[in-house]
This record gives sequence, structure tokens and C-alpha cells, in this order.
Amino acid sequence: MTSEQLFARARELIPGGVNSPVRAFRSVGGAPFFVKSAQGATITTADDRHLIDFVCTWGPAIHGHNHPRIKAAIASALENGTSFGTPNPYEVEMAELIVRFVPSIQKVRMCNSGTEATMSAIRLARGFTRRDKIIKFSGCYHGHSDSLLIKAGSGALTHGNPDSAGVPASFARETLVLPYNDAAAVEAAFLAHPGQIACIIVEPYPANVGLILPEPGYLASLRRLCTEHGALLIFDEVMTGFRLAKGGVQELVGVKPDLTTLGKIIGGGLPVGAFGGRTDVMDMLAPVGPVYQAGTLSGNPLAMAAGIAALRLLEEENPYERLATMGRQIRDTLIAATRAKGLPAQVPQTGSMFCLYFAANPIRDYATALKTDAVLFGRFFHACLAKGVYLPPSAYEACFLSTAHAGASIDQACTHMSDAIRSL
Ligand SMILES: *Cc1c(COP(=O)(O)O)cnc(C)c1O
Repeated sequence: MTSEQLFARARELIPGGVNSPVRAFRSVGGAPFFVKSAQGATITTADDRHLIDFVCTWGPAIHGHNHPRIKAAIASALENGTSFGTPNPYEVEMAELIVRFVPSIQKVRMCNSGTEATMSAIRLARGFTRRDKIIKFSGCYHGHSDSLLIKAGSGALTHGNPDSAGVPASFARETLVLPYNDAAAVEAAFLAHPGQIACIIVEPYPANVGLILPEPGYLASLRRLCTEHGALLIFDEVMTGFRLAKGGVQELVGVKPDLTTLGKIIGGGLPVGAFGGRTDVMDMLAPVGPVYQAGTLSGNPLAMAAGIAALRLLEEENPYERLATMGRQIRDTLIAATRAKGLPAQVPQTGSMFCLYFAANPIRDYATALKTDAVLFGRFFHACLAKGVYLPPSAYEACFLSTAHAGASIDQACTHMSDAIRSL
């Protein structure tokens, strides 16, 4: 079946024809393609088109798709069974790797998605501090649990409104939504709600609204304010963990959160999540403590085997400098091409993550990201796709590189993206 036939059938059976909304191409227009296989830096559609992939399954595929070492690890685990519902040896090995690499993690609990990780970390922070309110930042995405699907109100201190039907307003009231990169707003929130704020949750580099980098000292000031006011600091490193450094953004900036959430890369392409942190906080979890959290498939042997292989490869290859070199190549290409065409553009890039905003001024938060030209991005997206380059189908998503992009793929992609910009 072609992508068109599959999508027609899918729409009859699955809401919107997709199992996760952004896949439906709503924000760039057109209909999604279906993928039948993926290898290295390339995905192959149901229509037999080969595309150079900068989505990398939304981040996990840092070694490229279907890496032989990860495949072999899954195959070997498969010989022994797919799920036991008891502790298994892989879980210990995975925990050892995470604790060794991520500076702030002393103990870790595995779960099945990033959403579960952030939801559980918030519950744990509330249980530990015996406080109800949380701070999140507009434009930061932490999965789709109720307390975290809240967008900003009009003023910095207004209570959140739910972003989704089905989230009770009474839940939303416990979530304070503030602008990113504004430490004064955080200080004001702590003063306005003394002794009530359990935690701050933040993507240290927000990467679900394009890509935003923190201003110097911002993350350190979040750390200081949490310590001063008895709240926990949660770094949501589901995206950035193991992508920019083995220890995540916390290693790069030298700021230690109390809790960290992980996902994506640590599953090697299988469904996974994890949260970890200070021993005294983590030991509040059941069965030792009063905060309940569980999972039938948590620590699943196949997912652990895949994740362990992915992390060991990162340790052996230490590919971060190579990835960053490719990231700079793309950034320079996009800047040169937009300049030649006379288009205003911002190309934030760090390591193997980048994005292209059509905007005259740097993007520092959600509000400035929303002012960028998303219609022009949609045209750029489709021009790239026509040439065989697949970018995230939204103006507000980060692009990812893998080690498999090195060589011909990256050079071809740069040529195609330049041509796409020239054609706008
Ligand atoms: C992807 C992501 C999540 C959600 O993870 P899922 O596995 O999709 O539930 C949470 N936080 C961040 C920062 C993410 O990028």
C-alpha cells in the first residue's frame, strides 16, 4: 500500500490517522508519509522514497537507525524472553550506567516513557516537600500528564489554564507557568507563594519549541532559588540526556538538579523513561517510602538491552565532538543560504541539535518563538522534503543529527537545504 492508501485507512481506524499528533503534518500542511524501514541516516517510505532523516525518531537514534550493535543486543535479549515481571540483571547494569554518567543521579527508577518519568518526578517532588504547586515554563514540553499540559496565562504570575480539554482547572491552578530565561519571574513566584512550591521543572535547553538556549547564569539562578526556598529542581533531560554529553546539560553547565528525567536515547529506540536523583529524595518512593509509582513493563529486558548497547556505544565512541562539527556545518550552511536569499533567520545550534527560525531577532522564550514565520517554515519543510530531506513537520521542533549522518548524508543534505532556501 502507498502512504496515501495507508493514511486513508488509518484515518478510519485511528484518530487523525496517527498515534501522536505532530506526525499528522497539521502544522506544515499536506499528508504524512508512512515509513517501512530505516537504516543509518536514511528512512524509506512506503512509496520507496529514501529520505535523509533529521528527526531521528525525535531524538533517540543518536547512532543512526537500526545500528547493528543495538540490533544484536535486542536479538540476544530476545532469546531469553520478552518480559519477566520480576527484577532482571539488565536493570542493574542500566542503573549503573546512568548513575555513573549523570552527575546528579545517585539512584534511578526506570519507567516506560518520558511522560511517565516527568509525571512521577513531579509526584515525588510533591511527596518529598509536602507542597502542591509546581513551576513550569511556557514552551517547555514535559510529556502529556495533566499537571504539565498547561500553557501560560497572560501575566507572569497568573495561574495556568489547561492546554487540553479534559484537564481539570483545579489541577491547572497548581501549575504556575512562567517565561523561560526570566529569573526575576521565578523569584517573584516564590515570594508570592511562600512555602507552597514543590519544584521547578525545566528543559534546561528547551527543545520542544524549536531550540532555545539559556542566557548565562539562568540555570544557576534556578538552582539558587530552589535551594533558598526549599523547592526541588527537576531537569527534564528526556531530550538532552546523552545527546549533548553523557552527563546531559547538567554536565555542560555544572548545575546539579535534585531530580533528572530521562528517556529517548536511553531506550536505544525502544519505549523507555527514567527518573533519578538524590538518594534521600529517591528513597521516598515505594516500596521504601510513601510515594507510589509502578509499572508492569518497567525495566523491560528488551528495552534495557537496547538502551545499554546505546549508552555503551556512546562511552566507547565519545562522538560528541564529531556530532558538533556536523551541527556547525549545517548551521553555517543555513545561515549562508538564508543570507544570500535575503531572508531573516536564526539558527540556534548546540552539538547535534539545531533548528531554523525565520525571524530577525534571537529567540529567547516561547513568546518570541511564536512570532517567527511558521508559514515560511512550512514552505521550507516541503521544499526540503521534495529534495529528499526530512525535517520535523513543525516550525517548533528541534532537528537531530546522528553519527550515521557523517560523510555523504550531511554533505548532500546541506546542498539540498541550500537549494530549498533558494527556491522559497
Ligand atoms: C519527548 C519528551 C518528553 C516525553 O517523552 P515521551 O516518551 O514522548 O512520553 C518529555 N520531556 C521532554 C523534554 C521531551 O523531549
